Amino acid sequence: MSIAVLKFGGTSLKDAVAVKSAVNIALRYTGKKIIVLSAAAGVTNDLLKAARLAADGEIEEYNALLNAIKQRHSDICDKMPVTQTAREKVDELCSRLRLYCDGMAMLRECTPRSLDAVAAFGELLTTTIFADYLNSVGQSTELCDARTFMRADGEFTKAKPDLTATEKAVKEHLAVPLESGKIVVTQGFIAANTDGATITLGRGGSDYSAAIIGAAVEAAEIHIWTDVSGVYSADPNRIADAKSLNEITFEEARQLSFYGAKVLHPETILPAIKKNIPVRVLNTFAPDEPGTLIVPTAFTEQPHIRAVTVKNNCFVVSAHSANNGETLAGFHSDFLCKLAAVGMPLLLFSGGESYVFALIEADSFADAESRLTLHLPDAAIEECAVLCACGPGIAAPGAIQADLASEFTGIAINCGAKSVMTATSGLCAYLAVLPRKQGFAALAAVHGSANKK
Ligand code: ADP
Ligand code: ASP
Ligand code: MG
Repeated sequence: MSIAVLKFGGTSLKDAVAVKSAVNIALRYTGKKIIVLSAAAGVTNDLLKAARLAADGEIEEYNALLNAIKQRHSDICDKMPVTQTAREKVDELCSRLRLYCDGMAMLRECTPRSLDAVAAFGELLTTTIFADYLNSVGQSTELCDARTFMRADGEFTKAKPDLTATEKAVKEHLAVPLESGKIVVTQGFIAANTDGATITLGRGGSDYSAAIIGAAVEAAEIHIWTDVSGVYSADPNRIADAKSLNEITFEEARQLSFYGAKVLHPETILPAIKKNIPVRVLNTFAPDEPGTLIVPTAFTEQPHIRAVTVKNNCFVVSAHSANNGETLAGFHSDFLCKLAAVGMPLLLFSGGESYVFALIEADSFADAESRLTLHLPDAAIEECAVLCACGPGIAAPGAIQADLASEFTGIAINCGAKSVMTATSGLCAYLAVLPRKQGFAALAAVHGSANKK
């Protein structure tokens, strides 16, 4: 059976107008379909904030946030409109959410497990509304709780999906409604672990859910619906003349998202790519635009810089060897082990005989410093940005690539780059580590230079 998997992100569900646009898009697909939804834009952040406030005993503040979340969803319910049953379900979900936060306030505790339990409400709310609305406009729809089939384990807040178990469970749980002609609506981002607890796949994880579900049912296509017309040559909200790309390879998209382009979640679409399922990124608010197709590999394109991104919340952590007779491997692996113990995402690592440096991601200097002090007290830390340019084969050997690389290096150095790498794994990306305040200027300069040709 040919199945389409459609995923709507938070920006496509932010209010009743957006939800209606998403519903209209869903109705354009005539065959079998599975609809995977995120929470409404900003709601996951608010939920996590409410949980933290509760654990800090900030009673008024977390209750105010919970009231705002409830009001926002009631407004969507009013404007859709939805049935009384769905309204009651939304109220019930909001009451349960408040109970969880009250419990956290009483215990003054906020474990990753509790954060996941609270974060799940965003997706539970949007799916309740969406499925009810589809039913009320005469589209037979089944709301399937993702925790019945999405299996994941590992750490709370960044669980690893169990693809084999999930594939089996997806087939078990979704085949019947799909075969009986129902539209399936389900949550992205959330899963159940082997103890049956709610666990999430990491921020932005709904794309991942869509790809896993799409791969499990061998979908004919996976469409990621967002608020821009596909993957652009740079963030269109930052670079005015950025262009939507017709296609981009999986590896390029991976590099882009790893280094800050939030249009797709890193690694998300790998399960789909492995099964050769086309993944297209499309615009909920301009549904007739073609968007961007993510292709497994580039065909015979000339090397060129296709897209650029910058990630700002980065820190360079560097250390010198103690020169105590340690081997190079010992020096590097000791540094990496300590960095792993710090537990902050590693973005880049490089080093030589007596010097190592790593690029990590952290919320603030204070956060980076306090965590590093414990494990790497002698390391130096500096705020920075990382610029990533990607394109077909640009980091492979060759004359065209040499010109591209030297142009990129020149711009990066003009912007004060501390380090430039033009021979990266995957052969499709260049990276430059820059002073943070130069990040956006470098992004604009590389984008401008790549697009003037
Ligand atoms: P959703 O709610 O659909 O998951 P996100 O806000 O996570 O949407 O991602 C879409 C946003 O990604 C866009 O609004 C855009 O600002 C940002 N973005 C960053 N880099 C790019 C890029 N290269 N192409 C398209 N969008 C990008
Ligand atoms: N709602 C989740 C988040 O904001 C998952 C997603 O939107 O993909 O991270
Ligand atoms: Mg997203």
